[in-house]
Amino acid sequence: MIQKPRGTMDILPKESKKWQFIEKVARDVCRKHGFGEIRFPTFEETQLFKRGVGDTTDVVQKEMYTFTDRDGTSYTLRPEGTACVARSVIENGLSGDTMPLKLFYIINCFRHERPQAGRYREFYQFGAELFGATTPSADTELICLADDFLKGIGINNTTLHVNSIGCPECRPQYKSALVEYFSGRQDELCDTCKSRLHSNPLRILDCKSPICSAIAKDAPKTIDHLCDACKEHFEGLKARLNVSGIDYEIDCNIVRGLDYYSRTVFEFISEGIGSQSTVCGGGRYDGLVEQIGGPKLAGIGFAAGINRLILTMENGSSYVEDDGGADIYIAPLGEAASVKANEICAFLRKKDIVCDTDLVGRSLKAQMKYANKINAKNTLIIGDGELENGKAQLRNMLNGEQTEVSLSDLEAIYDIIK
Ligand code: ATP
Ligand code: MG
Repeated sequence: MIQKPRGTMDILPKESKKWQFIEKVARDVCRKHGFGEIRFPTFEETQLFKRGVGDTTDVVQKEMYTFTDRDGTSYTLRPEGTACVARSVIENGLSGDTMPLKLFYIINCFRHERPQAGRYREFYQFGAELFGATTPSADTELICLADDFLKGIGINNTTLHVNSIGCPECRPQYKSALVEYFSGRQDELCDTCKSRLHSNPLRILDCKSPICSAIAKDAPKTIDHLCDACKEHFEGLKARLNVSGIDYEIDCNIVRGLDYYSRTVFEFISEGIGSQSTVCGGGRYDGLVEQIGGPKLAGIGFAAGINRLILTMENGSSYVEDDGGADIYIAPLGEAASVKANEICAFLRKKDIVCDTDLVGRSLKAQMKYANKINAKNTLIIGDGELENGKAQLRNMLNGEQTEVSLSDLEAIYDIIK
């Protein structure tokens, strides 16, 4: 028996309704905020992610699905969307358009991780990217978009964690402060962190090992080492969040340990789904577009993990499943009645009525059982007698009422059940 690859999932109809709901809210919120949808390839040249995600990240070092194509080119299944969007913006010359440029995407991503609840090898992201604006107002608008989306799908139990990680001006000085602090406790760090102590000390701050994260709690804070411009930017963001009705807390342990990330970084963290609790993460990446060979173009974006959102929704949010019932089930008995049933279904569906009928030649009793199973709101039984005198009983299954209808006046049937 062939099984699906480890860490992937089948999404069956009952479940996919939740996905459609989330995707619809995402599209509606993006329209309200003026973000247009972008679609891009599932795989890209490996080089794009090495440069656009970062050579020293776990994603690039351990988690990429990379293969060599028949012509020898190295490609990678996208582990995230931001680098792809930045590549597309450059390649399509969008950086010459009127700024800001606001884009969103809904994609599957691939990372070779250890599968567990909330962590998969193929997972889904809803992401948004805003290019060409460096103001704290842009950061606020992007965070508001994420917040609108989360509230729109009924998730109210998340907290926004924000931090500022400074810019290339103030980072070197902060890095030295970090190296000095961690050097003092070098022996206790995990092997990975020991090796990145000098190359990329910021990454130690988001190491998942319990010992490293305990040590990181008392490390120097980025916000105490910001230059004046970064300080002003962060104050501008906080002032705007305060008037936007979004609760937030400053969280000095949120970092993006790469040089092209700057200033604002944030995460929406959900209560109650255990350790994989970050449902949405984002930040400003003013150096990214240049890093992958484009012009100087500021950007800020986020990505929300749809699988984790679904886990959160299942932990008690306001999502109400619709019953999915058919508006009408037509029960034909015999060939001639079956033709009539097809005619009525075709007529009603043109008017957006959800119809179902017998396709397998069931008995009347079995058909009624089926109508019940699919939650049909109305039933119409058509046998020889009904065909002969052109009339049938339309039964409302919710209140048991019966109405006699003419089988040649389908408009009248529609009027009753619409
Ligand atoms: P984590 O620290 O949990 O590994 P990350 O920093 O790798 O997250 P990002 O690259 O910022 O995550 O991706 C944005 C969002 O995508 C995450 O907040 C999370 O909700 C989701 N996500 C990331 N990796 C996975 C995965 N393997 N399975 C399911 N969702 C994921
Ligand atoms: Mg990760």
